[in-house]
Amino acid sequence: MELWYTEKQTEAYGITAKIKETYVREQTDFQDLAMIETEEFGTMLILDGMVMTTVRDEFVYHEMVAHPALFTHPNPKHVLVVGGGDGGVIREILKHPSVEKAVLVDIDGKVIEYSKKYLPTIACGLEDPRVEVIVNDGYMHIHDHKNAYDVIMVDSTEPVGPAVELFSKGFYQGIYESLKEDGIFIAQTDNPWFKADLIQSVNRDVREIFPIVRVYCANIPTYPSGLWTFTMGSKKYDPLEVDETKIPEIESKYYTPRLHKAAFVLPRFVEDLCK
Ligand code: SAM
Repeated sequence: MELWYTEKQTEAYGITAKIKETYVREQTDFQDLAMIETEEFGTMLILDGMVMTTVRDEFVYHEMVAHPALFTHPNPKHVLVVGGGDGGVIREILKHPSVEKAVLVDIDGKVIEYSKKYLPTIACGLEDPRVEVIVNDGYMHIHDHKNAYDVIMVDSTEPVGPAVELFSKGFYQGIYESLKEDGIFIAQTDNPWFKADLIQSVNRDVREIFPIVRVYCANIPTYPSGLWTFTMGSKKYDPLEVDETKIPEIESKYYTPRLHKAAFVLPRFVEDLCK
């Protein structure tokens, strides 16, 4: 008998993948967690019925969360990841020698535990001595840490369950205060096909708080529609003013110095959401 996993992305549309094996299916204190083996994309982490990451295409998302901000800030030393319990963003942050400390705050310790066990190539940086892993609500953490970070990355689930507050204006204001005076923040902001309203409202809120706001895209096949957006808010440095000829080559599969500015060139229908 064939088993298929389907993520319903709207009431009338979804994506589906053939399952080889189910490793975990558990209701944690915060969400429904599944870790499955798929034929096409390898091991897949699913939370509340939504694909969080897969071994085959994770590099796109994790590189594109980490590198545009870290190569825009001239000297990022202290970095915070809110969410991100699979460890993929941390693995990418550790490629930056200027980073002295990377703090990961995920609300759900089970995501961290199962990612270490079933996604070792993604979670591999979590034991690094430069990394501190905290199980807590990211909203609480930023409100308790003022003027603390050079870069903050929000690698959260979509705005359901524990992540609802992570898409609120109060959270972005907290992030502004948690950043140092030249800090940068970046958040994953979903897709423009089914979540146009979300992209618009995040953009509006972040613009009221940060002087520089930029949106960029990447192609992630297992996320709804395949076209993903990221919103960056910066107090001082503009990613579009970076001299890409000075960006060092790092080990990567998606991000390149040439892509740094190119990723910010948006299709018109996405550009229209960010006005
Ligand atoms: N890359 C994914 C995506 O865009 O679909 C998201 C990665 S997943 C690891 C996101 C993480 O955010 C989950 O581990 C979840 O536990 C965490 N999370 C959700 N709400 C949170 C909150 N309020 N504070 C901290 N972490 C939170």
